[in-house]
Amino acid sequence: MIVVELQPKIEETQTRPVAIGSDLNVGGSDIVLMAGPCSVESYQQTRAAAEAIYSIGGRVLRGGAFKPRTSPDSFQGLGLKGLEILRAVADEFGLLVITEALGVEHVPLAAKYADIIQIGSRNMQHFPLLWAVGETDKPVLLKRGFMSTIKEWLSAAEHIAHRGNEQIIVCERGIRSFDTATRNTLDTNAIALVKQSSPYPVIGDPSHATGRADLVLPAARAAVAAGADGLLVEIHPRPTEALSDADQALSLAMLPRLAEESGRIAAAMGRRLV
Ligand code: PEP
Ligand code: MN
Repeated sequence: MIVVELQPKIEETQTRPVAIGSDLNVGGSDIVLMAGPCSVESYQQTRAAAEAIYSIGGRVLRGGAFKPRTSPDSFQGLGLKGLEILRAVADEFGLLVITEALGVEHVPLAAKYADIIQIGSRNMQHFPLLWAVGETDKPVLLKRGFMSTIKEWLSAAEHIAHRGNEQIIVCERGIRSFDTATRNTLDTNAIALVKQSSPYPVIGDPSHATGRADLVLPAARAAVAAGADGLLVEIHPRPTEALSDADQALSLAMLPRLAEESGRIAAAMGRRLV
């Protein structure tokens, strides 16, 4: 058991890298870029995103098949068909897959089709879901609840670890503040604090943290500068037509620039973006 302890420390806690697939580590010296559409919408759309990731040397494709939408009238995702598309397209380019399990019933499916199971912000304290992924042997990416404290977030991670699965990556995806100019606020304090006080790799999600495509690059740079071990970024071949999170989707043409700029910050930190 890891005690959730946020007191000031002289010695930083060592990050325990999480192995993804056979040759990728999150939490080592490399900073891992994960990118893809918010939702898997079609084979063509997902394939175009995967090709863009592949062409910059990226390794991980993201995409939602079961979507946690605020309104039941919004696009809810393609479900199993979405998982099949993700896997097929990723295999075509030799990429790894991260996708969200929205409910306990999706855990076996996500474990079958993906290399990392994502737990969404709205589900951070969905304890039966945390227990279910804790009983798999798959790496889990636990997003921070947008109204949750850092301590609650790390305690949620312990719910996963208690069931035997310590392959946990935590993801700062922005928290709600009083300001409505941006969708959320990227908590770079949290990235730095978790990095020094927890053994879990921490990654930044500049897409949900800002909700605006024009702020994704600076937020990505800030996350890397704060010590993030990776980035989770939403891209779309036609951002304005995206069925979910259109405002924050980067075009495929922006991906090399994101990788280049974040890579320069990584280099300044003595790290490398992959
Ligand atoms: C997502 O990654 O598309 C998503 C729904 O994120 P969050 O849970 O952070 O809102
Ligand atoms: Mn999204």
